[in-house]
Amino acid sequence: MTDPLTLVIASTNSGKIVEIKGLLTDYPISIKSLDDFGPIPPVVEDGETFDENAYKKASFVSRVLGLPALADDSGLVVEALDGAPGVYSARYAGENASDAQRCAKLLAAMKGKTNRRAAFNCVISIAVPTGPALTYEAGCEGLILETPVGENGFGYDPIFYYPPLKKTFAELTRQQKSRVSHRGKALRELKDEFDKVAIWIRQHMPRPEKFNCHEEN
Ligand code: IMP
Repeated sequence: MTDPLTLVIASTNSGKIVEIKGLLTDYPISIKSLDDFGPIPPVVEDGETFDENAYKKASFVSRVLGLPALADDSGLVVEALDGAPGVYSARYAGENASDAQRCAKLLAAMKGKTNRRAAFNCVISIAVPTGPALTYEAGCEGLILETPVGENGFGYDPIFYYPPLKKTFAELTRQQKSRVSHRGKALRELKDEFDKVAIWIRQHMPRPEKFNCHEEN
């Protein structure tokens, strides 16, 4: 019998960890997060794409811990702002700004713009210590409102209007949002082929070295 697979979620964000654990409960896999290990240095998210940043996080954690690791990177891409805030979504209004301050800055930048089209994007990367990775990517299109509406969710949810449900993401329950959101879609794609992913991980994990111990006379 093969040992159960361990997958480390390269995050300390409890919301993300619960969501990913919940999705993979049917699989014989031991899911850990960074909180299960001693402190490891933070990864500098200085990539120019979601893809690069997701890979950086997954690959770094995987190399440091010697275990397969999963990371996601996500953000809001606004057409009229040439794709901003994009990979800078979390730091758009400075390192220590609140979600409300980030939304306010975006609304100010959008003042007078008639093209309100935007999309949330999410990339999930699963990496092994030797370097290779698998990538899952999904998006969700919507419109930027002129004022925030709704209390749920986080980040840019109150200003992101989702036309098919005629609501902002902040007016949806967590379950409603995850059915249509970028992260929900990417995670479902991963879940749908998790059997294959588990085989891929096993094939790409470095083999433990075998030592022959000879007693010296
Ligand atoms: P990260 O993927 O944890 O680096 O987060 C990127 C940033 O994008 C978050 O801090 C939010 O500001 C924004 N973001 C990503 N996904 C969502 C979402 O589902 N709703 C609202 N904001 C989001």
